[in-house]
Amino acid sequence: VVDKGCDAPSNLKIYLHKKMWPTYHLHTSYCDGKNTVAEWAAVLRQNGVPAAGLSSHAPLPEALARPWAMKSSNLEAYFAEIRQAAATADKLQLYAGLEADYVAGFTAPGAFAHLADYTIGSIHILGLLADGTPWEVDMSTTLFKRGVQEIFDLDYCKAVCAYFGATRDMIGLSPPVLVGHLDKIKIHNRPDPLFDETAPWYREQVMETLHAIREKDLILEVNTRGLYQNKTDTAYPSRWILEEALRLNIRIALSSDAHRLEELHAWFAETAGWLEAMGYRELTVLKDGVWQPMPFTKSGLKWT
Ligand SMILES: [Zn+2]
Ligand SMILES: [Zn+2]
Repeated sequence: VVDKGCDAPSNLKIYLHKKMWPTYHLHTSYCDGKNTVAEWAAVLRQNGVPAAGLSSHAPLPEALARPWAMKSSNLEAYFAEIRQAAATADKLQLYAGLEADYVAGFTAPGAFAHLADYTIGSIHILGLLADGTPWEVDMSTTLFKRGVQEIFDLDYCKAVCAYFGATRDMIGLSPPVLVGHLDKIKIHNRPDPLFDETAPWYREQVMETLHAIREKDLILEVNTRGLYQNKTDTAYPSRWILEEALRLNIRIALSSDAHRLEELHAWFAETAGWLEAMGYRELTVLKDGVWQPMPFTKSGLKWT
């Protein structure tokens, strides 16, 4: 299965299937991704991917500094390197994106909109812990519980409502192009649930957030990372949420949120099969600089 392009780094093991899956949530070594821009460009080309975007974590303000985010001083080099790779990428359209955080009072995707081809807006940090460190909501469940205790008096409903509330604030105040891993917070419901995803209050939070996405006509990301990390049984977001999104005519894009080459298209065929069974017929892709719908089946996307 190894198909090394003439300029591919020799240590690259390619065990990916050739599939026409454009995809726009890929992390590079500028943040916590394991592979360089050049390695990504080579693998995308070898797989015959017609269009893709790299989306390292955007820099965070100093008060929120985290090891997974890009350093501000590297931002310029990041874009320059992607633009250079794109210029020599042959048939591959390679875009320069950023996964940008929204943290009220600190940072928002809009701050990076003029630099990047597109932004993915995600909630990873939901305020500060008692000792002043950022409360990351998608790390360990121990850290999650600590934040709920220190900030929300152990009220999980309040904490989860704040998470979706932050997502809606981002959408309303500083909207990204794509809304990243909408319900990633559900990782804390395994093995033992901390909150009830079937409770009316939870469904209400999700529905309000979907309506906000619809109102701004943003693209909802269908993110497979929880599946291949074995943190969830479904994509982000869950199937019922995707069914509601379909009813609301919300556009979707399929992402792996890959942090290494072999994750590029992880769980795409399965997830596309579920989407197809739900009634989805189109994915939204970035082609010639324009986000547009294209038909897909579980075998791939029909690039036209
Ligand atoms: Zn993320
Ligand atoms: Zn990501």
